[in-house]
Amino acid sequence: MAILDIVTYPEEILLKPTKPIEKFDERLKKLAQDMIETMNAAPGVGLAANQVNVGLQIGVISLAEDRKTNSENKEYLTFANPKIIEGTNEVMSREGCLSLPNFCEEVPRFEKITVEFLDTNNKIQRMKLQGLPAIAFQHELDHLNGITLLNRISKLKVRLYKKELMKKG
Ligand SMILES: [Zn+2]
Repeated sequence: MAILDIVTYPEEILLKPTKPIEKFDERLKKLAQDMIETMNAAPGVGLAANQVNVGLQIGVISLAEDRKTNSENKEYLTFANPKIIEGTNEVMSREGCLSLPNFCEEVPRFEKITVEFLDTNNKIQRMKLQGLPAIAFQHELDHLNGITLLNRISKLKVRLYKKELMKKG
């Protein structure tokens, strides 16, 4: 295993969608292992492949229920080609990002999601996630689509701004 370099904004690889994979071969399984090690060293609760300069739809998250238990956590989820099938209960989530040093903002996320992805045994899995793992999954899915917290923030600000204008209007 190896700790990989994390790329930071505004590196171009963070700003464009990654490509789906055909299957997890030995090379991509090793990449996923290295991503888990890199995430833990950071420390963080999730990491997307383009954050380590690989433009493929692969992500890893910690399955710890909250940030307090994350340091003792040994359970992780590795996923490729992820989709959210269903999301319920929008909440505001205060998030940072390993690719945006010293940035922390609230963004809207689903509290509970049903997801579908390719697992490391090359099987399509469907799974329900909630709490921190659900938030982390949505954050990493954004990365894989070339979206960072900054996109989420600017949209929100635009929305609030329009609302404010309408009130004044
Ligand atoms: Zn991030």
